Amino acid sequence: NRQIHLVSRPAGEPTADNFRLVEAPLPAVQDGQVLVRNHYLSLDPYMRGRMNDSKSYAEPQPLNQVMLGGTVGEVVESRNPHFKPGDQVVGMGGWQEYQLVDASQRGVLQKVDTTHIPLAAYLGAVGMPGVTAWYGLTQIINPKAGETVVVSAASGAVGTAVGQLAKARGARAVGIAGGPDKCRYVVEELGFDACIDYKEHRDLKSLSAALKQACPNGIDGHFENVGGMILDAVMLRANAFSRIAMCGMISGYNGEPIPMMAPQLILVNRMKIEGFIVSEHMQLWPEALKELGMMVATGKLKYRETIAEGLAAAPEAFLGLLKGRNFGKQLVKLV
Ligand code: NDP
Repeated sequence: NRQIHLVSRPAGEPTADNFRLVEAPLPAVQDGQVLVRNHYLSLDPYMRGRMNDSKSYAEPQPLNQVMLGGTVGEVVESRNPHFKPGDQVVGMGGWQEYQLVDASQRGVLQKVDTTHIPLAAYLGAVGMPGVTAWYGLTQIINPKAGETVVVSAASGAVGTAVGQLAKARGARAVGIAGGPDKCRYVVEELGFDACIDYKEHRDLKSLSAALKQACPNGIDGHFENVGGMILDAVMLRANAFSRIAMCGMISGYNGEPIPMMAPQLILVNRMKIEGFIVSEHMQLWPEALKELGMMVATGKLKYRETIAEGLAAAPEAFLGLLKGRNFGKQLVKLV
């Protein structure tokens, strides 16, 4: 069983040397256990935070152990009455080809139906990133029809769903993304009303002017995935009683400072700013997944994937995710 371990912690930007490909024997399947062949690994920005040894909402990734992460795959052997070979499952299999799971614990492995939804979508639009979008949009921003919602990292796994869920609620959706291809996709294929290429606007004045043009009625809701200058520019265009869902601040994940320029605007505009961690709201996942699954199965929620081939490609693909080289959900295909 080939695995990828974290072998050292990065200072600043991570490199491929922080990871090592390891060959480990596969233990025999014991009573209650299930052996799963992982088909896809999910690569997610939160993994960068876990590479640090510092206190956060998530435990640090232990050194010299399999990188933790979401996976989808197929049961190949089972000594658990709830699973049989051939079952398609989603779990936290980590960066490895096979996972041996004690499936008697509730929720560690979920069977999924791939009749109308592709298996890999359970790591994206119908998985954790989709629920993240759903939670921040519906529980924090809660847009009314006609309001304007902005989302940063708009072409990514979370961002694509945020804008389409906002549109489905009658709101105006405006994306912020890096590069003309990502912006074109967000508007032309996903149906956002506008998208701003932040790489064309290197200073706050220019980005804020672009936002003014794209949001003539101001901003009522913002879904923040990036932080830094993007957040400042949005704050300058925020309406009274606007809401910001603080989902991620990827521009600071390697330790870059991300000061907030004008916190007084929170008061002046009577804004609500709320951070959240999607895994702390498990009671809402069924409702979110129902809407997301229905939308994907009926073609109303579109998404895109960047797929790296083979386990050995996972570290480079992960480093690429932190630099915006992915376009849509970043996956690693194992078989
Ligand atoms: P994406 O698929 O959006 O990929 C990350 C994207 O972030 C890149 O493609 C890139 O897009 C952008 N990016 C990367 N580095 C920078 C940078 N330095 N400055 C600006 N943009 C950058 O990832 P996800 O959709 O999986 O995640 C989006 C956000 O949601 C992340 O911040 C993540 O941490 C957060 N998240 C939070 C959760 C929660 O519970 N709170 C749960 C899941 C995700 P571009 O080329 O457009 O710049």
